[in-house]
Amino acid sequence: MNILVTGGAGFIASHIVDAYIKKGHKVTVIDNLATGFRKNVNKEAKFYKADIRDLEALRKIFKKEQPRIINHHAAIAVVTESIKNPIPTLEVNVLGTTNLLLLGGEYNIKKFIFASTGGAIYGTGPFNAPVPETTKTNPSSPYGLSKLLAEKTIKYYANNNNFDYLIFRYANVYGPRQNPKGEAGVVAIFGALMKKNVSPTIFGDGKKTRDYVYVEDIVRANTLALAKGKDTTINIGCGEETEDQKIFNTVAKATKFKGIPSYLPHRNGEVLRIALDAKKANNTIGWKPTVKLQNGITKTIQLLYAGSA
Ligand code: NAD
Repeated sequence: MNILVTGGAGFIASHIVDAYIKKGHKVTVIDNLATGFRKNVNKEAKFYKADIRDLEALRKIFKKEQPRIINHHAAIAVVTESIKNPIPTLEVNVLGTTNLLLLGGEYNIKKFIFASTGGAIYGTGPFNAPVPETTKTNPSSPYGLSKLLAEKTIKYYANNNNFDYLIFRYANVYGPRQNPKGEAGVVAIFGALMKKNVSPTIFGDGKKTRDYVYVEDIVRANTLALAKGKDTTINIGCGEETEDQKIFNTVAKATKFKGIPSYLPHRNGEVLRIALDAKKANNTIGWKPTVKLQNGITKTIQLLYAGSA
């Protein structure tokens, strides 16, 4: 199949590109390298350095490559940045997505697969975690809002332009290639600091929770998505709340770090507790998480120390 992957130089989508290529698909990557890296892009993929806000640049790529499936991961995915300066996040995540949907219609794609968020979109609750997809959306930041608006735009254009869609709401993803200079990849951030024997900072008292899912499991969901899951929205997570302190302790064990963290107040817009109920993922595309947190962290740290994470 001929697949276009946006954001394919970034953390998650570069792994998806590798898996698609391994399965024999023809893959085109579009990425403006804002937070992604050229070296992450599989050598067998066709790479275009382009911005998804640029409709004409995208049209030329569509004309040449004629993709059948769009797997859309390009985004500005920084919660605090979206609060400080919301316009770029809204432009890229909503209007950039709209450009791809317009071209999807023009070029008769079969399916649009989208990376949404299960954290920032449900907001702060109160709810009993793990939360199912039926939970009321209540974005806690312009980033969460941008993903919700993108979801609605996808449904509108898929319906009107006659292609299928599948929206994934991811939990917190971790694994090799996650950028330790970002704000949210706590395993990568802690791992990189501990490797240099520097004490990481925990925002809050260490009791804030997230649901962590290893990138290999995310890749499997995106592989299953090529054949399964039509016009629906599904959570992808492990269903377990993990405290920041536990992540600190697990990464410290894996890196043999002996220090203690420093603590700063919670950051604005951050969700305090979340875990995603992913039963629907099992029922619709046959997906279940397979990698246990401890094993995923150990694997990530080993690759980090080997210089390839
Ligand atoms: P990432 O920053 O590594 O990847 C995003 C990629 O998009 C980068 O390569 C970046 O250069 C590219 N990009 C940004 N703006 C662009 C633009 N205007 N035009 C073209 N390319 C552009 O982040 P990631 O963690 O791999 O996230 C991938 C997707 O998954 C994002 O849509 C994000 O919102 C979503 N997501 C991630 C997580 C997570 O825990 N990492 C959780 C939920 C959802």
